[in-house]
Amino acid sequence: WYTGEISGDGGQRPIGLPATEAKRVLLFGGTFDPPHVGHLTMAQLALEQTGVDEVWFLPAPNPPHKQEIGDDTFGWRAAMVTALLEGRAGLRTMPIEEFLPRPSYTVDTVHACQLWYPDVEFSFLLGADSLEQLLTWHGVDELAKRVPFYVVARSGTSALTQVVNTLRERLPELRATAIEMPLLDVSSTWLRERLEAGADICGLISPAVLDLWHKGPQNEV
Ligand code: ATP
Repeated sequence: WYTGEISGDGGQRPIGLPATEAKRVLLFGGTFDPPHVGHLTMAQLALEQTGVDEVWFLPAPNPPHKQEIGDDTFGWRAAMVTALLEGRAGLRTMPIEEFLPRPSYTVDTVHACQLWYPDVEFSFLLGADSLEQLLTWHGVDELAKRVPFYVVARSGTSALTQVVNTLRERLPELRATAIEMPLLDVSSTWLRERLEAGADICGLISPAVLDLWHKGPQNEV
């Protein structure tokens, strides 16, 4: 995994990433292709339940598990996330992975955040489907040491306690806490299929995000 080559001068935060007053931040990585009501709900509930100061949405330029997604749509997906979060205190887009090598491994992203924001205590938010795949993630032992996880249940996955107990057999240092949220069986894949078919998405994507989706990646703001 990424070990110290994050920028030419070590821990210097790149110009282009804002400073923060936050003391506790929950990182929320994703493809956000497009961002939807499931993402917004889990972030808002996690903000309330964990008591962190901010949740940072981290769109992935080139996620390791979705190699077909690339930099060409990064600005567009980040703009859609920003549109989703418009006017919401405590929820913000942070383009951290724009400044990191590709593919963007979560362990590198967390490491970079800890170097660039040394006064912030970080944790990481994810859905249970992602947690189930954790052992396939690059540098997972290091990642589990670096941050505690907050997890949201997702349809089609095993009970959270079962997933966590199984993971702990191989990753004894794993720290995972559940975020209480009603199951919202919505995914970007399902919404993309409907959008591409011209079908109604029934308010599951906000009007501002929908507008950007229809404009396409070449018109990113
Ligand atoms: P796709 O269908 O393209 O795989 P997705 O809807 O899973 O996309 P991502 O951007 O890949 O969205 O998800 C980012 C994170 O949010 C992941 O950890 C995922 O588990 C979680 N997540 C997304 N939607 C939900 C949901 N409806 N309920 C719980 N967790 C969710």
